[in-house]
Amino acid sequence: MSEISDKSFKDGIRLSRLGMGNMRLPVKSGEPGEPIDYEKAKAIIDRAMEAGVNYYDTAYIYHGGESERFVGKALAEYPRDSYYVADKFNYQANPDYRAQFAEQLERLSMDRIDFYLLHGIQDYFVEDAISCGCISYFDQMKKEGKIKYLGFSFHGTPEALKRILPVYPWDFVQIQLNYYDWLYENAKTLYEMLDEAGIPIMVMEPVHGGLLADLGEQANGILKEAEPEQSIASWAMRWVKSLPRVQVILSGMSNLEQMNDNIRVISETEDVTEEEQKLIEKACGIVRTNTAVPCTKCRYCVPNCPMELDIPYLLSSYNDAKLGGAWRLGNLASVVGEKLPSACVGCGTCTKHCPQSFDIPKYMKELTEMMG
Ligand code: SF4
Ligand code: SF4
Repeated sequence: MSEISDKSFKDGIRLSRLGMGNMRLPVKSGEPGEPIDYEKAKAIIDRAMEAGVNYYDTAYIYHGGESERFVGKALAEYPRDSYYVADKFNYQANPDYRAQFAEQLERLSMDRIDFYLLHGIQDYFVEDAISCGCISYFDQMKKEGKIKYLGFSFHGTPEALKRILPVYPWDFVQIQLNYYDWLYENAKTLYEMLDEAGIPIMVMEPVHGGLLADLGEQANGILKEAEPEQSIASWAMRWVKSLPRVQVILSGMSNLEQMNDNIRVISETEDVTEEEQKLIEKACGIVRTNTAVPCTKCRYCVPNCPMELDIPYLLSSYNDAKLGGAWRLGNLASVVGEKLPSACVGCGTCTKHCPQSFDIPKYMKELTEMMG
């Protein structure tokens, strides 16, 4: 019997509640950007398969393209109908969707991709993604059996989600969802929009890139006092699992300990209780007060930036890096050069329009330096 719980998707398919993200695989030197440590990474996949995890998520840009090759190779010894592969089209990396899709099948050594996504839709390119022709091409691939289900992953505002939702009968959508983003960002609104549309949700960043695995001494203490045996990360995983529209919870696991902890937590049936929810909110409030730039995402600054930078998104990345280290800036890999913080010309118009008068040019400069 499978260790990990699963949930019905559609067409009689059941997907494990836990999905294996392949963007933070162990690397040879232990440093991001280095080659994948095949033996260590393969041991994680083997453990996942053994436990009944059947959803494996990768993307064109993860590990510079090596993640797709790794996933194809690591899963090759298992029967093709015992797992599902999710892969993503990255518009910024190469807008030629035909070429990119063909390259992905070749890297994976597969003749179909089960779950295919437009990668990381954001406000500044949602119109390009809709009008470039990729959706009708991927729909054609679906008809030819090269794609089984089509969806998109999303990093934008509710307005952008409202724009893209009606253009296709999406099979699923992947969003960043965790209790921090629910309480202080727009995750609750996005979840409710998808719930209303009846679309299954794949969750990325349930532990907010590691932020919710260590909340700092004071906030950790609140959760540890209630559940001394449970890891801090397990609270975040269990919180996400309690939401009924959530289908698969992706976790980018880098070692066997994380995999085993996730398997145990996701297989537990208890939802977060009202009492536990209050503790989470209290602990999260402490994290929030320690946040470097408490930007409210009002976006008053955005229309006034001559470089059209997505300032709140970049500030959110800045906060992540300040709280947990520069390696958290991996998300910015999907942002094109002209939209990166380095494009800031330091005009200061944004600060004038910001109700909190944040020194945004200073943060853009610092963020550029952190990106190295
Ligand atoms: S200072 Fe930078 S971020 Fe702010 S409006 Fe000018 S170019 Fe945009
Ligand atoms: S105006 Fe200020 S608070 Fe509002 S989104 Fe921009 S930086 Fe954040």
